[in-house]
Amino acid sequence: MITGQAPLTAPRSAPQPAVTAGSHRRLLDQGAGTLPHDDPALVGLLDAEVRFQQENLAMVAYASLAHPSVLAAAGSALSNVTAEGYPGARYHPGAHVFDEVERLAAQRATALFGARHANVQPHSCSSANLSVLFALMRPGDTLLGLDLDAGGHLTHGAPASVTGRYFRAVHYGLGPDGRIDLDEVAALARRHRPKVIVAGASAYPRTWDYGAFRAVADEAGAWLLADISHVAGLVAAGLHPNPVDIAHVTTTSTYKQLGGPRGGLILLGAAAEEATGAHGSGPLAERMRRGVFPRTQGTPNAAAIAAKARALGLAAGPRFTTLARRIRTDARVLADALVARGHRLVSGGTDNHMVLLDLSAGGVSGADTERALETCGILANRNCVPGDTRPPLVTSGLRLGTNILAQRGLGPAEMDTCAELVDTVVRGLGAGGGRDRLDPALAARVRATVRDLCDRFPVPQYPAAP
Ligand SMILES: *Cc1c(COP(=O)(O)O)cnc(C)c1O
Repeated sequence: MITGQAPLTAPRSAPQPAVTAGSHRRLLDQGAGTLPHDDPALVGLLDAEVRFQQENLAMVAYASLAHPSVLAAAGSALSNVTAEGYPGARYHPGAHVFDEVERLAAQRATALFGARHANVQPHSCSSANLSVLFALMRPGDTLLGLDLDAGGHLTHGAPASVTGRYFRAVHYGLGPDGRIDLDEVAALARRHRPKVIVAGASAYPRTWDYGAFRAVADEAGAWLLADISHVAGLVAAGLHPNPVDIAHVTTTSTYKQLGGPRGGLILLGAAAEEATGAHGSGPLAERMRRGVFPRTQGTPNAAAIAAKARALGLAAGPRFTTLARRIRTDARVLADALVARGHRLVSGGTDNHMVLLDLSAGGVSGADTERALETCGILANRNCVPGDTRPPLVTSGLRLGTNILAQRGLGPAEMDTCAELVDTVVRGLGAGGGRDRLDPALAARVRATVRDLCDRFPVPQYPAAP
């Protein structure tokens, strides 16, 4: 073989370093190097986004920051690979490198979560949930999940989602203490005999008892789907119960707490294997495979799968465990600091990364608070609270999260400052009669403190603003 030239026949073995070393890097350098000249309009926006992320404090629950190496993997030449199907069984030629990448991502996903099978192809967790639900149910079958207003996700049977249109959705809510009432779940399961029960939420600050959900599912003859989209990082770090061996199927997003690209995973563990015989409809892994492709997706995003592999690799390291601990500790300290300032929290506190501020006692809405915080350089989103009387675009709550604060290195000492900032804005809005009535001097003071925090705690590995 002539050095520097690709072999004529594709090797089944791993790519050969002598031929490929540095190619990916040169490709990225090439693109990043010429883009400012070739497309200044676009590159200006891309630069603005990096700077925005450095200069604003994202106190959000629904995101984390991807390591630059994850972003580099997502921008790889794998983007050019079209390959329906699965490793070793594609419908297109030329996928032997991608086969290895997909196998690597799946291996890392199974290792990280102690699973026996992982499908790494879902484009998102919404897509993963659709695949799972359409694999386990027929249109008209009953689905039992947490109500959207109580913190559930659209794909858990909300009327606005295809899952609420094709399936008969029944929902459980929260008890007066802001926690899931398992007796209510069990009663609904007995009454409605759902085919699938979903344990998971987008806005729930407490720990899930998957064993209790499984017992309810078993009594009702239902499948249990655990959607760990929000807490996947804590699960991976052993700081939240792991449902993989208890639920029949587990799904997650890869960008929320795993620092990965936009995407989803489907994980199967011991429960899935044990269930195969009992439910008599073929191995669950195979049903999930077909549920993703061809039922709900076409070609997989090969570059995103490479980025998932990278993020899953990082999440398996000891630094990730340290980060996950800081995320959880920060959330507890933040919650305590808000309570100490007289604020009400849904469920009174938090077990995870999320703090749900209940603003319904004051006159200020979630939307106004979100907007006022944003003008001060703080990101946090409006959120329904139990019994909310305001419409979903307005709401009476605010959802805070510590994923990105912890990634930037903000610890318990800084959480008091963060609580102080939120408190100042909420009170300032209230004093001004709500809506856009934040005193400019007060807003400037908050912005200055935010700026100082962002300077002291830059996003690690991201270039600082010049
Ligand atoms: C965010 C979320 C999803 C959807 O994830 P996407 O990847 O954004 O589609 C599904 N389930 C829960 C519980 C979520 O919080």
